[in-house]
Amino acid sequence: MMAMRKSISSSIKLYCDEEFLPRMAAYANEFLLWDENLQEIPNDNHLADDKQPLILVTQDELILNANNGKHFIWIHPDHQPLRKKRRGQGLHVSDFLTPIGRLGHGDACVIMKCGGDIWWTGDRLLDQVIEKAIPAFEAQFPGCKALFAFDNSRNHCKFVTDALRVSEMNLEPGGKSARLMRDTYVLDINHRAGGYIQSLQLPNGTPKGLRKVLLEPGLWPDNRRFLAQWSIKSTTGKSAKPNPRCPDGGSCCTRALLGAQPGFRTQKNQNEETIIKAAHEVIYYPAFHCEINFIEYFWGAAKHYTHERCEYDFESLKPMVPEALAIK
Ligand SMILES: [Zn+2]
Repeated sequence: MMAMRKSISSSIKLYCDEEFLPRMAAYANEFLLWDENLQEIPNDNHLADDKQPLILVTQDELILNANNGKHFIWIHPDHQPLRKKRRGQGLHVSDFLTPIGRLGHGDACVIMKCGGDIWWTGDRLLDQVIEKAIPAFEAQFPGCKALFAFDNSRNHCKFVTDALRVSEMNLEPGGKSARLMRDTYVLDINHRAGGYIQSLQLPNGTPKGLRKVLLEPGLWPDNRRFLAQWSIKSTTGKSAKPNPRCPDGGSCCTRALLGAQPGFRTQKNQNEETIIKAAHEVIYYPAFHCEINFIEYFWGAAKHYTHERCEYDFESLKPMVPEALAIK
């Protein structure tokens, strides 16, 4: 357990050092900034290089519950608090913030009743990005480019149908749930300049499978047998689970070997592909570092507003949530 924790924190550190911080540093001169009176601060870089000003747009989600009252109340020791124990029905909020307030003055926000079998999903976020966030940004900041920043919950994200995903490949050709994937470019064992384009399908249209895809560029080490993916025993004693260390690359199994190839390593999810196609950019906050996202202060104020006015009743929560989000 200790070893796994260490590996998770070292992969977060690697992400911070090699991707998040260098990218943010590179953007630093491109950001459009405002002073405390919300007056735009002139930035010579935009004029000099004829560059589009970049605006950080941060997204996050929050659930406000009907019974989310104050944590402490003063009460006579003989009295029982009239407070419901369960959190009650909730409203899920997904919103975007810019440095000068809510994106589109709240037009990009989605508030949804959740519970039962209705939950927030990657598909709903994608719809919100396409139908609300991108149009709201382009209307509010014409001629500017957005850097959309999301929490690191990439596993909720959907991939387009031909995306490169080692987790959806079998060891041998064809087989159950094998999916047709786009051509990729692989570096062969000698790393000849540029590598080459490889089809992941056989001429008859069957997916080649991990073994063949690795053998072709000579990426399968001699005299080694591989599993598709390492697995670890689940703690509930049922079926084995994929080893979470595998996606980090390495040579433990075929998925780790192929996953380290550039096409697979840089495969973007549908949300990212959509934003990049619209000529904006995407970044993810490092996992377990929600304090970096300035939307947390906004959520704090919204939660405080609903706590103060909590009536332990879903009907009274409904009109309160838009009010809480609209406070300045
Ligand atoms: Zn592995």
